[in-house]
Amino acid sequence: MGGLVLKALVFYAPGDVRVVDRPEPIVNAGEVLIKVAAAGLCGTDRHIADGSYTSAKSMVLGHELAGVIQEVGHGVEHISVGTRVCVDPNLGCHSCNYCRAGKPHLCLNAQAVGVTRDGGLASYVSVPAELCHPLPEGLSPVHAILGEPLSCVVHALDRANIELGSKVAIWGLGTSGIMMIQCLRAMGQPTIIGVSHHEDQRNLALRAGATQVMTQEEAKQSLEVDLAIEASGSPSAFEPAFNALAPGGRMLLYGVMSPGDVVSLKPEQMFRRELTLIGSYVGPRTLDRALSLLAARIVEPEMILGDRLNLEEAREWVLKEGARKRAKAYVVFE
Ligand SMILES: [Zn+2]
Ligand SMILES: [Zn+2]
Repeated sequence: MGGLVLKALVFYAPGDVRVVDRPEPIVNAGEVLIKVAAAGLCGTDRHIADGSYTSAKSMVLGHELAGVIQEVGHGVEHISVGTRVCVDPNLGCHSCNYCRAGKPHLCLNAQAVGVTRDGGLASYVSVPAELCHPLPEGLSPVHAILGEPLSCVVHALDRANIELGSKVAIWGLGTSGIMMIQCLRAMGQPTIIGVSHHEDQRNLALRAGATQVMTQEEAKQSLEVDLAIEASGSPSAFEPAFNALAPGGRMLLYGVMSPGDVVSLKPEQMFRRELTLIGSYVGPRTLDRALSLLAARIVEPEMILGDRLNLEEAREWVLKEGARKRAKAYVVFE
């Protein structure tokens, strides 16, 4: 290697995202160089692109990636060249209170691939070796790009601590909502209701194992569930989801809202009906379980992967230009 120039999708400033030539990444001690096989796009990239999610500038986007290790830096011994890996983008500092308490995702000095340092929307990226998770037998790198979003779903369902036999409804049937339905079906949950205003997403939810689907308007009438999952990222879904909680019910806040978003909530209802609100952020230490779920086809990659884009189309996607693409949109590097 050396002197290679690669095409990359780079975020410069809110509204300014470009496909540019970048030099081959430097591989520092403790890092590995990955030849990227594919990278997924997600709502977080759109939030970065419009400035509503804090990130580094002049940075390659892409926090959902998998590929093959091409080179290892000084001191890297546990993983070797040629290993196929998925990257956990979230890096804790190892020294703050939260890292010491085993909660690296709450780290006060957190770094993230594709958010605070160069990501995988380029044919090569260097990342700390500790973030690389070898792929299980039979899982292709292209399918493995779903590992990161699924690791967040696994963490969220851990946090929800759902009881068997519960009634669950999910607002928002994008990639995460559909993955949640597949996981809930595998857990044997008898009532899984998908809520979306997109007919194509409602149909996909039924194929994924939802027992019932509804429009947002329909879900405002007489729905009562033990667990309401807000996976749309839209503040307008908060109140209907909250109002659908049965006594003792729990609401999982999963969708990425903007920092300035405000919702209204009835504290008297929370008090008298003993309701619980649960937040869930990223997927700490859940990536290996996510990859197992993909390899076992509990979550079916083909059902989740949508339109394959080139980098220029990916630029339009993050800036919300061009035609609507089927989730999960992704880029493959040959
Ligand atoms: Zn993502
Ligand atoms: Zn820390």
